[in-house]
Order: sequence, then structure tokens, then C-alpha cells
Amino acid sequence: MTESPHKISVNQKPYVLTEILKDTPDVSVFRYKAQDMSTLSFDPGMFVMLTYIDKSTNEKITRAFSVASAPNSDTVDFFIHMVHGKLTTKLESARVGDVYYMTGPYGQFRFIPSQDKKVLFIAGGTGLAPFMSMLKEIDAQKAGTDIVLLYSIRFPNEIIRKDELEELEKRLNIRMVITVTRPQENDGWTGEKGHIDSNMIAKYASDLNERTTYICGPLAFVKAMKDALAGLNVNPDKIKADVWG
Ligand SMILES: Cc1cc2nc3c(=O)[nH]c(=O)nc-3n(C[C@H](O)[C@H](O)[C@H](O)COP(=O)(O)OP(=O)(O)OC[C@H]3O[C@@H](n4cnc5c(N)ncnc54)[C@H](O)[C@@H]3O)c2cc1C
Repeated sequence: MTESPHKISVNQKPYVLTEILKDTPDVSVFRYKAQDMSTLSFDPGMFVMLTYIDKSTNEKITRAFSVASAPNSDTVDFFIHMVHGKLTTKLESARVGDVYYMTGPYGQFRFIPSQDKKVLFIAGGTGLAPFMSMLKEIDAQKAGTDIVLLYSIRFPNEIIRKDELEELEKRLNIRMVITVTRPQENDGWTGEKGHIDSNMIAKYASDLNERTTYICGPLAFVKAMKDALAGLNVNPDKIKADVWG
């Protein structure tokens, strides 16, 4: 494996919540800064363990989140699907200025631009997060990576960081395909529709065997993508997946 361009060591540090952006009906961007103003060094695709501490009860809740911002940027950003579980319910009343703890980075789902010149990124819903970090890294390094991004959402208003994606699309060597799985009459969506399957993959990535494929999303999504790729005889060694479910 090519060496990472980043100095990676696992740390635990306090981070201040600096911004909350309600980006889609179900997903908010949570943006943090290290209290000591240091930046987080990691390979895009990696995750951190985020710990929330309830001020009144001192209860701690820790969950994994993929980093959506670029390595060593001013802030550490997460795309958080507000599923009304234990942590996400607490996050509904989170306030700017609150202090959290982060431990990491962790994970083998890593993208190193010098290693993969041609890639297929397949994202399901909030699974876009690690790919946003990868796209920003490719942009920052001017790596010129040949990218096909297939991004599956249910409804057109679920595109996370739509403006930022459009900006990246202009600058990168990318074929970006967003598919809406539950199109409605009069929703104005003119793009691709339906679940990602082997036909859609073959349509947009006909040179599939020259690409390394990265998949991120819920368990059922990742399994369906692996099955579709197996149907296209893709070498399993060329597939990397991150499962959240
Ligand atoms: C490596 C990794 C990376 C991850 N990255 C991300 C990321 O970038 N963004 C992200 O959003 N998540 C990510 N996750 C998932 C995240 O760690 C949490 O599991 C998620 O935020 C839910 O935590 P919770 O405490 O709110 O839910 P929990 O209380 O732990 O509940 C687990 C699940 O049960 C269901 N559930 C629980 N209570 C309710 C309820 N009242 N109503 C409906 N459903 C309910 C939800 O579907 C929930 O997902 C990642 C997970 C892993 C392992």
C-alpha cells in the first residue's frame, strides 16, 4: 500500500461545536474546532469516535462518525442523519459552544490519491460523508483523479451540500450521477431515477475493472452494491466498503 501523505496518530481531544447547518430535512452538518486549535490529520474515509457529555447528568454517549471535511482543514465536519436515537436526540438540542471529545482517526476505509488514479465512488444517503472528504482532498492536491460518483438519495431535496458538490463537479475530473429512488410526480427531478444496480453501474463506469470501487452507506445498501458488482465480475480486491448499520 502507498504510504499516507498524512501523519496519522490516534488522539483524544476536546472539540468545540462551532456551527450546525440543517442541510436537508433529515441531515445536519455538525462543524467542530479543536479547543487547542490543532487540525486533524487523517486519510479521507476514516472516522472518529465522538463523545457527547450531558452537562446535567454527566452521562457520556459515544458514536462513530466519518469525517466529511478534508484532512487538516480548519474544522472537522460531520454529516449527521438525525434518526432520533440516543445520541442524535441529544444533538437536536445541541448548541454552538458546547464541548465534545473526539478520539481517532480510525478505519481501513481510506483513500490515498497517489494510489488510485481511477475510482468509482458509490454513496447511499449520509454515506456521502467520506466521499466529500475524498473529493476535497483530490481538489486540494490537484490529483486529477478520474472519478465516477454514483450517489443515491430517496428524494431530490436530500442532496447533502448540493452547492458544494456542484462547485466540486466544475473543478474535478468527475462524472457525478445522483439517482432519486422515490421520484414523485411534479418533483421537477430530471436526473437518474431508481436504485443503483448493475445496469446503472455499467452505464456510467463501463471501464469498471480499471477502477477501485469505494462504497459507503447502510448495511443493506452496501450488500446490494457488492452483489451488483459481483454480477459484473468485479475483482473483490478492487472493492472497499464502509458499513454503518
Ligand atoms: C464507522 C462508522 C461511521 C459512521 N458515520 C456516520 C456519519 O458520518 N453520519 C451518520 O449520521 N452516522 C454515522 N454512523 C452511525 C452513527 O455512529 C450512529 O450509529 C448514529 O448516529 C445513530 O446513533 P444514535 O445514538 O442516535 O442511535 P442509537 O440509539 O444507537 O440507535 C441505533 C439505531 O436505532 C434506530 N433508532 C433508535 N432510536 C430510534 C427512534 N426513537 N426512532 C427511530 N429510530 C430509532 C435508529 O435507526 C438508529 O440508527 C457511523 C457508524 C459507523 C460504525
